[in-house]
Amino acid sequence: MPLAKQDLVGHFTERFGQAPAIVVRAPGRVNLIGEHTDYNDGFVLPLAIDRAAWIALRPRRDCRVNVYSVDYQEVREFDIAKLKHEKAGWIEYLKGVAWCLQDAGMQLHGWEGVLAGDVPLGAGLSSSAALEMATARAFAAVSDIAWDAVAQAKLGQRSENQWIGVNCGIMDQLISATGRAGHAMLIDCRSLELQPAPLPKGVAVVVLDTATRRGLVDSAYNERRSQCEAAAAFFQVRALRDVSVAMFEAMDGQLQATTRRRARHVISEDERTVQAVEAMRRGDIATLGQLMNESHVSLRDDYEVSSDALNAMVEAAQAHKACYGARMTGAGFGGCAVAIVKADEADDFVAATSRAYQARTGNQPAVYVCTATDGAAMV
Ligand code: ADP
Ligand code: MG
Repeated sequence: MPLAKQDLVGHFTERFGQAPAIVVRAPGRVNLIGEHTDYNDGFVLPLAIDRAAWIALRPRRDCRVNVYSVDYQEVREFDIAKLKHEKAGWIEYLKGVAWCLQDAGMQLHGWEGVLAGDVPLGAGLSSSAALEMATARAFAAVSDIAWDAVAQAKLGQRSENQWIGVNCGIMDQLISATGRAGHAMLIDCRSLELQPAPLPKGVAVVVLDTATRRGLVDSAYNERRSQCEAAAAFFQVRALRDVSVAMFEAMDGQLQATTRRRARHVISEDERTVQAVEAMRRGDIATLGQLMNESHVSLRDDYEVSSDALNAMVEAAQAHKACYGARMTGAGFGGCAVAIVKADEADDFVAATSRAYQARTGNQPAVYVCTATDGAAMV
């Protein structure tokens, strides 16, 4: 069962002896298609899921923020008037958001409370963006700041880039802030235009956690980003988003082999993502699934960010008769795959795919149906 408001009220009441003044929730996300396109100004199609970061809190009169983490079982504190970096740790995500909001001219108040989450850490479902957006929502609530979801998502991304030092794109924070129940969201990562697309009836979205976690992924990620920049420079455009499949095919012979494969992934993935939304809109689930399968091949062979475990999981999923399509999701090298399956056969899919994956790899996976929820909010 996902965490619910009463769990947070319970944790808060246990520590503070009374009910919280405010409870906020910000979801993790799963990306249906459009992987490694966000930092190329391209298209993504994520949904906010029923796994989230939650904070129950009450305002303080001073400038301190004092938080008990249920998951880490420790209290951490900081002063919003004297923010400074300390060694890495979960509290840095909250400080980074405070720093960005203040830097954007917002007057923040202190607060105290409890934090709990059920987005698995480092699994490709973006627990960090969930935490950032929950923190932003908490500060906005205690500080009487009108909630502008897109502006707050940009500040969340900035805090992850500049305070945490992770060079992520805008997708994770934006979907955590703007998700809509029952919908995936087509995001144009250049204009930040959002187009909600209803999930087709009779289809379940299944997250398949390989129980493997990415290792030294930062260097691989930064290398991919510079290869994309090199390809964009070759085509004399701002970002690979500006290169059509036709433009690419006319010139690709002149690109260095690795750069060519990286660019081919990004350019074809943008095209697939736009086609996927069109397929969803006309209820053509078979095409949506096919595009997800193609995305996986492209990520595996051209972008080279999959892993043996992810490939085993995707193959196990695709082998089931209820599966329309499956692919790795998130940055890669470990973490989760995503599948879309016939809703009335989802239970059998979950059991059979888990068994097949475990038999093949020896890992104990976590496979579950997830639902599309609303973005960051007071609840
Ligand atoms: P992900 O892919 O899940 O975003 P990251 O490495 O970017 O993985 O972020 C994970 C980090 O975010 C954790 O190590 C922790 O510091 C912080 N975090 C996420 N969720 C929570 C939570 N519920 N409570 C405390 N810290 C959290
Ligand atoms: Mg993250």
